[in-house]
Amino acid sequence: MLGEGILKGLAETARNFLGSYVSKDRLTTVQFPEERLPHIEAARSFPFLVYDGEDWQQGMRCVSCLICEKECPPKCIFIEKSKDKKPDATGKPQFYPVVFNIDVSVCMSCQICVEVCPFDAIKMDVEFELSTNDRFGGLLWDKERLAKSNAYYGKIHPTEAAAVDAQLAEERAKLEAKAKLAAEAKTATVATPPAQPLRETSETTEGSGA
Ligand code: SF4
Ligand code: SF4
Repeated sequence: MLGEGILKGLAETARNFLGSYVSKDRLTTVQFPEERLPHIEAARSFPFLVYDGEDWQQGMRCVSCLICEKECPPKCIFIEKSKDKKPDATGKPQFYPVVFNIDVSVCMSCQICVEVCPFDAIKMDVEFELSTNDRFGGLLWDKERLAKSNAYYGKIHPTEAAAVDAQLAEERAKLEAKAKLAAEAKTATVATPPAQPLRETSETTEGSGA
């Protein structure tokens, strides 16, 4: 029927308009900041650096591989790699970022840094109330400002964080099993007595024959 679509659209508008007086579900306006919508898991604002455990310096996952710095389209990540290594959360010696800065006034929240990081060390935050009148100190975030715990990551992106935790646990278990096997092989080598030299054996054989 000609004009059926328009009539359906008007009926929907009328339903929403009248329904907004009686049903909260029909109200599309949120009285922010008094009212807030719960954030959805896929929401993202700016990146943060994940650390394991309680100590952000000790547990920071970033090993300063510089991949995110190279791949960031607007070049708003600046990293200075350490010369030495220190143990990460699993005790493995790793390089670490001496400096890790992100200029969030330039960041376009594209998430490319997250996608290219091989260590699950950088993730997207959902925090968005970040306005400041300090253009440089307020929006150029250093590693201390960027560091957030894995527990926080689990709170804002539970599904994604659970998958990452499971994958990391599997990788750590494999590494531990490999290290255990290597240690057992080393112990077995030390315990096995060295083979007798060939000359001694032939002398023994000759002696016993006479
Ligand atoms: S989200 Fe995009 S723009 Fe922002 S730091 Fe990561 S790669 Fe750069
Ligand atoms: S955040 Fe990830 S990609 Fe960026 S330097 Fe650290 S380990 Fe490398």
